[in-house]
Amino acid sequence: MNNYFVILAAGKSKRFHKNLSKQIYYYKNKEIIDYSVEKSLNSKLFKKILIVTNNLNYFKKKMYPKSISVIKGGKERSDSSLIALKYLKKYKPKNVFIHDAARPNFSIKLLKNILKNLKSNKAVVPAVYSRDSIKYKIKNQIFNLNRNNSLLTQTPQAFRFKELYKFAIKEKRRVNDEATLFINNNSKVRFILGENKNNKITYLSDIETVKTYFGIGFDIHKMIRNKNLYLGGVKIPFHSGLKGHSDGDVILHAIIDAILGAMRKKDIGAYFPNTKKFKDIRSPKMLRPIIKNLYKSNFSINNLDINLICEKPKVSKYRDKIINSISKLTTINKHQINLKGKTVEKLGLIGKEKAIACEVIVSISKYD
Ligand code: ZN
Repeated sequence: MNNYFVILAAGKSKRFHKNLSKQIYYYKNKEIIDYSVEKSLNSKLFKKILIVTNNLNYFKKKMYPKSISVIKGGKERSDSSLIALKYLKKYKPKNVFIHDAARPNFSIKLLKNILKNLKSNKAVVPAVYSRDSIKYKIKNQIFNLNRNNSLLTQTPQAFRFKELYKFAIKEKRRVNDEATLFINNNSKVRFILGENKNNKITYLSDIETVKTYFGIGFDIHKMIRNKNLYLGGVKIPFHSGLKGHSDGDVILHAIIDAILGAMRKKDIGAYFPNTKKFKDIRSPKMLRPIIKNLYKSNFSINNLDINLICEKPKVSKYRDKIINSISKLTTINKHQINLKGKTVEKLGLIGKEKAIACEVIVSISKYD
């Protein structure tokens, strides 16, 4: 296992943001570079992992295991790569992988595949075919490139250390990647199929940030005779209904409170106080404006989980109807809604069929 993994993280990332450093930017709850560090470490394929950065003080504070070293990089990518090779020379590596920190989405399987191919090759480079048609410009002339002959090279790229070192030392021009060194020296590069998801993060807009929130809602209403029973917006044939300023629909009220909670927008009473205006209001009329507001604020619902707590009516009998109704009111898919029925062993007011309660948990996400 005489393999070494170099992570190049010295770029200024000017195209990413004028102030933010791309390599340590948070992406799905982790710094972008951490994906490369963790995967190379977890693969157990490497004797040493070398991080090349121009932000030494920041990386020195990290509690890395001994097998990870951090060194200062150069001005350009090829400078940093050469600095890394010179640093590693004393370890007499057999193979070296060079990787851009800006590609967090490669798999450990790819690392293994590269290494397997390196047994019979001196340079192994993952590449994918372009999805877009490519034009090539020379002065004012435009040429069409055949998409099937155009390869987009990715990293990690892997090499026999000796050859790469030799080519890197004598190369005077700045090169975009190490594969170029081999190509410039007419040395064979073995291209293997890369991974489409292993894109390079270049612009801040390449990263879709998702923030997820949870909200909880609870409601309880007393049962009274001579009132219609509404649950989840569905009229249920029953001897009693739910007492309240509105139709007393505990399910929709708990959903409203859960959504307001997740959005941090107070509670149902703040929007529908017990005033004349809302006397005998049907609950779908209360839920609709809340849902409208949710979507207007760029949120979307991931799922709703509902506990309806009562002895009767039997939830299983009306489950599909209620879920259908909630799906229509919230415009989410039925598969995102779960409804559970819960009895209370005939205990207390609910057990004596004098009240119905409901609790709801909702998860919502905001895409920026
Ligand atoms: Zn209520």
